[in-house]
Amino acid sequence: MARFTALGEMASTLAHEINQPLTAITNYLKGSRRLLEKSTEENAPMLREAVEKAAEQALRAGDVIRHLRDFVARGESERQVERLPTLIEEASSLALVGAREVDVRVSYKLDPAAELVLTDRIQIQQVLLNLMRNAIEAMQGVPRRELQVMTVARDDGMAEVSVIDTGTGLAPEVSAQLFQPFVTTKKQGMGVGLSICRTIVESHGGHIWAEAIPTGGTAFRFTLRIVEKEEVANDR
Ligand code: ADP
Repeated sequence: MARFTALGEMASTLAHEINQPLTAITNYLKGSRRLLEKSTEENAPMLREAVEKAAEQALRAGDVIRHLRDFVARGESERQVERLPTLIEEASSLALVGAREVDVRVSYKLDPAAELVLTDRIQIQQVLLNLMRNAIEAMQGVPRRELQVMTVARDDGMAEVSVIDTGTGLAPEVSAQLFQPFVTTKKQGMGVGLSICRTIVESHGGHIWAEAIPTGGTAFRFTLRIVEKEEVANDR
């Protein structure tokens, strides 16, 4: 919850800070449009339209930020009994969009005993999607590109989900604070993916961690509590 709140505050601060320049942009654009209305220049109508569209987009950027804040602030989530294999299947098909060009081989090893879990479907798919996208990115430029998604039903009643790649492995400078926000080695990276994963997994009562694979690559693993079929039957 503390991290949820911290993330919410960050989003609010960001929204506030970004709104001011966005408002300034919108005002300048409105002024420009007014000037263009008086212009007899032949390109003026086209320019006017472009300026109007730019203003719309500036407003949209503001909305995106506000939605982010609402999304993060939405503390409670909707949990239902879901089939873990289905969650994995759906998240994979999203994650693999564009992965075909980088030619990644994907395999699944799903334990039939790790079937039902009590989760917020969208949130857990977000976790899977983040982990798979990171894995695919880590394998760009290495000759062996194999992604494996594995589940195991553990003795303690938890399902352990692993996303394993044959990529470059963890950079030493990030491995100690992997799940902290804004830790990234990527030029375009925000470094919030894994911190959001941890917030989601821990709010479900699970853990998330990373392991280096001795033969090269990285395994990200997280746990979710398994719901026994009898428990579901008893509820009905
Ligand atoms: P981002 O992807 O925006 O950098 P993340 O929080 O998802 O943010 O990841 C943080 C950092 O962790 C990445 O920049 C990368 O250095 C490292 N990382 C994450 N997943 C992997 C992986 N599968 N293999 C190697 N490094 C990884």
